[in-house]
Amino acid sequence: MEADVVIVGGGPAGMACALRLAQLIDAHNASGVDEPITKENIYVLEKAREVGQHCLSGALLDPRAMNELLPGFEKEAPLDAEVTKESVWFLTRKGEHRFPIVPPPLRDHGNYVISLNRFVKWMGQKVEEAGITVFTGFAGAEVLWSDESRDAETARVAGVLTDDKGVDKDGQPKGNFEPGYELRAKVTVLAEGTRGNLAKEVIGRLGLEDPEHAQTYGLGIKELWEIPAGRVAKGEVIYTLGYPLTAREYGGAWVYGTGETESGGTLVSVGYVTGLDYQDPRTDPHHVFQSFKEHRFARRILEGGKMIRYGAKSLPYGGWLTMPRIYGNGWMLLGDSASFLNSQRLKGIHLAIKSGMLAAEAAFDALVSGDSSADTLSEYKAAVDRSWIREELWRVRNFHQGFEHGLLEGMVNAGIQQVMRGGNLGPDAENQAGYTRMERLDAIGPAEEKRAAMVGNAKGDGKLTFDRLTDVFHSGTRHDEDQPVHLVVEDLNICSGRCVKEYGNPCQYFCPAAVYEMVEKDASDTAGAASDTVSQMSDGVGHASDRRSNPGSNLAPAKELRINFTNCVHCKTCDIMDPYQIIRWVPPEGGGGPNYDGM
Ligand SMILES: Cc1cc2nc3c(=O)[nH]c(=O)nc-3n(C[C@H](O)[C@H](O)[C@H](O)COP(=O)(O)OP(=O)(O)OC[C@H]3O[C@@H](n4cnc5c(N)ncnc54)[C@H](O)[C@@H]3O)c2cc1C
Ligand code: SF4
Repeated sequence: MEADVVIVGGGPAGMACALRLAQLIDAHNASGVDEPITKENIYVLEKAREVGQHCLSGALLDPRAMNELLPGFEKEAPLDAEVTKESVWFLTRKGEHRFPIVPPPLRDHGNYVISLNRFVKWMGQKVEEAGITVFTGFAGAEVLWSDESRDAETARVAGVLTDDKGVDKDGQPKGNFEPGYELRAKVTVLAEGTRGNLAKEVIGRLGLEDPEHAQTYGLGIKELWEIPAGRVAKGEVIYTLGYPLTAREYGGAWVYGTGETESGGTLVSVGYVTGLDYQDPRTDPHHVFQSFKEHRFARRILEGGKMIRYGAKSLPYGGWLTMPRIYGNGWMLLGDSASFLNSQRLKGIHLAIKSGMLAAEAAFDALVSGDSSADTLSEYKAAVDRSWIREELWRVRNFHQGFEHGLLEGMVNAGIQQVMRGGNLGPDAENQAGYTRMERLDAIGPAEEKRAAMVGNAKGDGKLTFDRLTDVFHSGTRHDEDQPVHLVVEDLNICSGRCVKEYGNPCQYFCPAAVYEMVEKDASDTAGAASDTVSQMSDGVGHASDRRSNPGSNLAPAKELRINFTNCVHCKTCDIMDPYQIIRWVPPEGGGGPNYDGM
């Protein structure tokens, strides 16, 4: 199938790109040109069943980009509340200390509390009204290349291959089998959000990541709560630092008052972001969040309320310095896929939208000129450099990197950077990938008491705190069980051998959806023939076992990795944080995944 422009990912970046492109084409065609441009061959691919279903964010919207894209958008967009007041707190295990002033980057007056899910759904309607087709339930599965080149200057992206439909757990076609479409496009725009699978392919193949400035990520765990009225005002914004993380880890919590419930209570968005560059492999970001809720500060807000939704998603923290090359022959990267997120403000929606708009302008030039080479699309990067995206991100380019040695040093560095307009006293900081900081069990030793609140899985009391399965139930996640496992483990020997000893299988802890479990092998399995496969069982789980480990031994029973892939909420943490980098997230059959209604 031939296309002019294919936009992969219908989040804020992809939708803004589609909408701006439609605006430019309309203006062009209205100017009486001889050759009008059609919008018929411009497509947005979105892996969720419905637009917005896989979108999860805090979320506070800085309206700057929307004011440029759709002036007056406030009149019709789904905005929950205007920010009315902010406070910032530092929590110790038993104490709470309010910052005397709200640091300027965390002042949110003028911003809106939104549900990104609903906001993006609305953007999707605008895109369709503007005449651009959005294919939901279709994932970009592979990049189509014009040739074998791995050189960023010469390689050309020719489009994308969408996911196959109707493949069974053994990889065999079912009755409803439909092979993926080859969508060949003049311009392919990758707007897949954090750790996009196609963006990763492009970055990896063309060697676009600078090893001295590798991307780092955080994992945000979020719940929506209905709480009694009077505790958090509509439009109130609360940030906390500290407990349950210690001074060695990076992260913090938010509470946003989003509005009133039908029963007269208050709806709040509450969550905790844990930096995915922690050292203790037993760290469990879901546990971190549950422990936060047990702190008297959060308990006061939530106790007696009801958790109604759950979700988790990673976000790129590295900022400007970790941005890969964002254009080439026939392709561009936008939004979170391109590292456009301000980690100091925990905000990326406005940057994603602006990057979508600027990419649309370059794509439009390519359509008008008939030239979608890197030369033409380089105007996208030039426009980013001239825009307020650079201005905003350049001023915080060292922010996350400054926390490498812990919270206290990070706060001092942040102060220096504030004065130095983003610079350090020395050169800009380097950045290693977060998983490289994970320490081996023998080096880190038993978790001391102060880290008990963040390591190991949380059990949950079923009222204020929850185990991961209860939480996942509230994410609305659904996958067809009869399909290949979409978490591809490249070397199973490592899981049941080295990783057990070296890191204690951290996938059991960092996954917020209980997808990975190390289970004792069935006694009857132990004598089985050599096999190291991930097989999809009829119970909707994959089993990745190394049956050769420990054959006939009297030692502790060998363990195998069980992959409950149907729980996966597409947060991408396993792809990011696995210390051996042997887990690859690939899209499941399009339509599968969470249903982040109102998140
Ligand atoms: C916990 C948390 C809290 C946050 N809080 C805030 C906040 O308060 N304010 C703020 O401004 N920012 C916040 N952010 C950041 C913000 O959400 C992101 O920067 C923003 O959503 C990025 O937009 P995007 O379009 O690049 O990616 P996304 O919003 O992730 O959208 C990407 C879309 O692409 C789809 N997709 C991915 N891969 C494929 C594929 N291969 N094929 C088809 N479709 C695909 C996804 O399903 C998704 O719909 C937060 C992020 C998190 C995780
Ligand atoms: S399997 Fe990976 S992508 Fe899926 S929820 Fe777990 S950590 Fe996230």
